[in-house]
Amino acid sequence: MDQVRVRFAPSPTGYLHIGGARTALYNWLYARKHKGRFILRIEDTDTERSTEESIREILSGLTWLGLDWDEGPFFQSERIGNHLDAVQKLLETGHAYKCFCTREELDAKRKTAQKEKQDYKYDGTCRNLSPDEISIREQNASPCVVRFKTPDEDGSVVFQDRVYGLIEKKYVDIEDFVVLRSDGKPLYLLSSAVDDKTDKITHVIRGQDGLGNTPKQILIYNALGYAPPVFAHVSLTLDTKKAKISKRKHGEVVTVAYYKEKGFIPWALCNFLALLGWSNSDDREFFSREELIEAFSLEGIARHNSVFNYQPGDPKNFTDPKAISMNARYISMLSIDELAGLVREELRSADLWDDAYCGEKKQWFENTLELIRTRLHTIRDFSSKGRPYFSDDFTYEENAVKKNLKKDQNLKQYLTTLADCFEKLDTFDLHSTENAIRDLCENLGVKPGLIINAVRTAVTGQSAGPGLFEILMAMGKDKTVDRLKKAVDLISNEQV
Ligand code: GLU
Repeated sequence: MDQVRVRFAPSPTGYLHIGGARTALYNWLYARKHKGRFILRIEDTDTERSTEESIREILSGLTWLGLDWDEGPFFQSERIGNHLDAVQKLLETGHAYKCFCTREELDAKRKTAQKEKQDYKYDGTCRNLSPDEISIREQNASPCVVRFKTPDEDGSVVFQDRVYGLIEKKYVDIEDFVVLRSDGKPLYLLSSAVDDKTDKITHVIRGQDGLGNTPKQILIYNALGYAPPVFAHVSLTLDTKKAKISKRKHGEVVTVAYYKEKGFIPWALCNFLALLGWSNSDDREFFSREELIEAFSLEGIARHNSVFNYQPGDPKNFTDPKAISMNARYISMLSIDELAGLVREELRSADLWDDAYCGEKKQWFENTLELIRTRLHTIRDFSSKGRPYFSDDFTYEENAVKKNLKKDQNLKQYLTTLADCFEKLDTFDLHSTENAIRDLCENLGVKPGLIINAVRTAVTGQSAGPGLFEILMAMGKDKTVDRLKKAVDLISNEQV
C-alpha cells in the first residue's frame, strides 16, 4: 500500500479553532499510526480574508499542541498556476465549459425557481454553445466563468466515507458548478482537489461541513484522471443548544490560544479534543501520545455531533468542565520532572522564580509541587493559587478572612500565643507543630478546627488547601511565625 499522506488545510482567516485543532489532531494521529506523512497546507487564496497574523496563530497553535508536520507549510496561493492549468485541461477535455450568463440573468432564474417553490440549479444554458458563439462573446469581451460539466447520464457519484459509510449523490442533483470565477480566480473546490493531488494525499480527513463538496471534488478528480483519495468526515462540535461553537458567540474559549493562556498542558488539551468525537471500544479516557496513536482509528470517530459543554459567561467554569478535569488529572499524573519544567516557566513569567529551586532548594521545590498539585487545575494556578508558597506578597481571600480569621474575637490572642509557641520549638516538624496546636486548644478549651482553619488562612490567605501541617512544613518555622503575626496585624487593623 502507498504511504499514508494526510493534510491539515486551514484557511488563515481567523484564529485556530479548537474544532480545527481536533481535525489536525486526527490527521496527525492517523499519519503517526501508519508511519505516514502529515502535511500542512495553508489555503490562503481568499486574499481579502487571509492574514499573516492568522497564519502565525495557526502555526504557533499547532506547534504548542505538539502536532508537528512533516511537510509544508505549503501555500495554496503559490500554486495558482497549477489550478489554472487544471481548468484549462478540463476545458480541453470537454469536462468544463465557459458560461457567459450574467448575474442578472441567473438571479432572475433563481427568483422564478423560488416562486415556483423549486430548487434552483443552473440550467445549462451555455453548455452547448458552438465555437462560433463562444468566439463572438469573447470578441465582445463578455465576462465569463468556467463551469464543470456534470455528467448527463443517470448515474451518481458513490464513495465510501470512512466515518459516514456509503454516500451516493445523483448527477442530476449536482449542478454544473463554477470552477473559475469571472475575475480569473479558481474556486476553492478545484484548488483544493488539485493540491491534494499535488501533495499526493491518500486520505482526506476533514470536517463534516466539507461533505457537501466531496461529490464535486470526486468529479474533478475523475475528470482530471486522478484516483480520488479516501475520505473521512469528522462530525462537528456544537454547544449545548446545538449551535456551532464560535468566537463571536462563545468568545476566546473556542480558540487554541485561550488554553495556552489559561495554563493548559498541551497534551491534556489534545486528549480532551481527541475524545470530543472519537472513542475507543473500551471507553478509556487517558491516553499518552503513544497510546493514542496506537488506539486511534477513523472508524472510532462518531457520526453524531459532539457537545462542547460550556455556557458563555459561566462563572464556575472557564471552559468545558471535562477539559478542566482532564487538565487537572494530567497535573496530578505528570512526572515531577515534567511538572517542575512547566511550573518553572510559569513562575518565571510571573516573576516568582528562584534559581535555587534548581539548586539547593530543589528538594523543597519538588515537595511543594507534590503538596499542592492535586488541588490545582492549570499550570497558571501555580502562580496564582500557589503564590503564597513562592512569595510573601500574596493576598488574603476576603471570604477566607471573614470565615476563618474573624470568626472569633479571641483569635487575635490565640494566634499570638501560637506564634510564641512555634517560635520556641526546637524542632519544627509535623509532630511538634501538631502537638503545639493540640496543647493550645486544650489549654484554651477551644475546638482544634477553629485554630487549624485560622492558621491555614493566616499562612496562605486561603480557606482551602492541603493538610495544615504539611503546609507549615513547606513554609518553615520563620515564615509561619511571621505570617501568624501578620494575620494578627491584619485583623487588628481591620477591627479598629
Ligand atoms: N480550507 C478548508 C477549511 O478551512 C479546508 C477544507 C478541507 O480540508 O478540504 O475549511
